[in-house]
Amino acid sequence: MNVTKMTYQEWLDKAEAMFGKSPRDWTFICPVCEQTQSGQDFVDAGLEPKEAANYLGFSCIGRFNPDKGCDYAGGGLFRLNPVHVTGPDGKVHQYMAFADMATVLMNTMDAKVWTEKWLATIQDHPDVPTDDGAMLAWFSTALMTGHDIGARKADKKAEGRHAVLLRAAYDLLTRAERGVFVEEAVAIQTHYDGADCDGYCLRDDIACELGISDDTDPIPLEDSEDEE
Ligand SMILES: [Zn+2]
Repeated sequence: MNVTKMTYQEWLDKAEAMFGKSPRDWTFICPVCEQTQSGQDFVDAGLEPKEAANYLGFSCIGRFNPDKGCDYAGGGLFRLNPVHVTGPDGKVHQYMAFADMATVLMNTMDAKVWTEKWLATIQDHPDVPTDDGAMLAWFSTALMTGHDIGARKADKKAEGRHAVLLRAAYDLLTRAERGVFVEEAVAIQTHYDGADCDGYCLRDDIACELGISDDTDPIPLEDSEDEE
């Protein structure tokens, strides 16, 4: 781990130079899951601003918002925050690194954030809007970021769905094994999506998830003529 050391004043100056005076705009990157997170994210997750300030840049937003980040706690067993800030009292506080502009942009589809960064960029570099290459880079990055974040979300959703269906398949097999009577697999019920479903319904849901039709033949076995 690359540790950066600074005084509290240096840290404040850096935050303000990068994001402005309001801690709601200060943006950090989690050392574990690399999710970027601002003070506003913590407020949006339901924390009082004062409480938000205790966690911002210290523990991951995932502890408060299940849809984002991870459950990393800065004060936990593994102290991975790489910025060690010495306060006026001599105590050292460990913070996450600030997220630079590129990192912030790569992690958001929020048009408001993109607009703010755009205005800041053309203020610093007034020739950007007439520079072919720079404009191409800006727009292609914006488009690709939207695409990538969408794809990551879809992956995560599919993973969740796969886990639900796998568990139901496990339950069905276990009930088949433990049942006193021999039962047809399709008649055995499992509980998921908040309802009891039989094997037919589980099979259809799995087929849908696999993107195959629900009358697809099974993959033939190696050493038997497969039954009709
Ligand atoms: Zn995290």
